[in-house]
Amino acid sequence: MITFAQAQDNLHTLCAAWRDQQMIQPESISLASSPGRYLSEDVSATLDLPVADVSAMDGYAIATLPPTDLSNEEAQDVSAVNGPCYVVRGESRAGQPYSGSPLENGECVRIFTGAVVPESADTVVIQENVDREAETIRIVEQTAFGANIRRRGEEIALGATIAKTGQRVTPNMIPLLASQGIPHVSVRPRLRVAFFATGDELKRPGDVLGEGDIYESNLASIQAVLENYPLDLINLGVIDDTPQAITDALQRAANGADIVISSGGVSVGDYDYVRDCVAAMGQVTDYKVAMKPGKPVCFGRLDQDSGGQALFFGLPGNAVSSFVVLTELYLPAITYLMSGDKEGTHGYVRAILTEDLNRRPGRLEFQRGVLQSALDGKHRPVWQVRALGSQDSHRVMGLALANCTIQIPAEVGHLPAGSDVVVSVFPWSEIR
Ligand code: AMP
Ligand code: MG
Repeated sequence: MITFAQAQDNLHTLCAAWRDQQMIQPESISLASSPGRYLSEDVSATLDLPVADVSAMDGYAIATLPPTDLSNEEAQDVSAVNGPCYVVRGESRAGQPYSGSPLENGECVRIFTGAVVPESADTVVIQENVDREAETIRIVEQTAFGANIRRRGEEIALGATIAKTGQRVTPNMIPLLASQGIPHVSVRPRLRVAFFATGDELKRPGDVLGEGDIYESNLASIQAVLENYPLDLINLGVIDDTPQAITDALQRAANGADIVISSGGVSVGDYDYVRDCVAAMGQVTDYKVAMKPGKPVCFGRLDQDSGGQALFFGLPGNAVSSFVVLTELYLPAITYLMSGDKEGTHGYVRAILTEDLNRRPGRLEFQRGVLQSALDGKHRPVWQVRALGSQDSHRVMGLALANCTIQIPAEVGHLPAGSDVVVSVFPWSEIR
């Protein structure tokens, strides 16, 4: 049996080797359909941003009168001290820059936010600091030389990297990419994930349950966890618990997918054929991980008829074990496969346990819990967490009520209230 950390490392090695062999063909897609996808190359700025010197305010762009007998420093505060009357020569508004002759000192143009500042102007005075009479303005508040102008390229210089290879496109990146006039981005292709469940006791919704039968739940749960990622999901359904049927399913899955996920049949029972079938078709690199729930965990590779290989991720059959192994162990690996980035594949936070926690030590445990933000005695926000009742691996109610898992190190049996714990937050949970 290997530790969870060892399993993560081995899984990473397996995935990294698999990625190295792949000929990844990037896909060009529209910016609008890119959120959720992973970039296959860096994105460079095609423009300076702002594209020109533009006004930050509504007001007047002035060509400052030259200083008279003031020292240089004082001359920087131009307007109020220094002949505050300017003649209005025209207007610059968004989309329609001033097109008259260059401003002379003592002249100005009316200007609006975002409009181009004429090259001959040096300062924008906001309209609240100006008295206007006909075509003349008087500046009534001091304005620093050069004020209220957003300089060309001030935020982004042409050619700068604005998004990185492997980064997932998120909605908050769209204003940046769209403001660069980028219509398409190059992204990694969707990985294909084929999955099936084993177990003769498993029935579909609508089927009548015979004695000892249960409704199958892992297929829907795999679908639910993975469907928010750029993956093509291929559900192969429930497969008979025979070596032949499992071999056929593995073959079909491996030939049509990059990743094959199975549920059940990986323990050491008389009807647990999955591991042997995988070994016969490729390689089982690991089996049995010291994690709870979920000890029977088996992963490796499957040979494809084409000479290539698919990754194999085996889940235990228990609904909760299957869910926890998928989210805690395999989802970070799948995220790495999509992004090429090993870091940042999981959202952990440190939280304070609000109730005592007792359990039998031995394996790293992922207890289902409820995380919430609260205020401490000094009114500072803190994360608090409590574990949900019985943690047996068949208990689906606790899983349904949870928004996170609490990680309890293998050797720890007792954690008093007030302990600091590491929590991994379900990616879809909206925590308040
Ligand atoms: P196994 O890993 O095949 O020995 O299954 C362990 C336990 O999980 C057994 O009680 C199975 O009935 C149950 N189980 C296996 N597969 C599923 C599934 N797809 N959905 C719900 N329960 C399952
Ligand atoms: Mg079974």
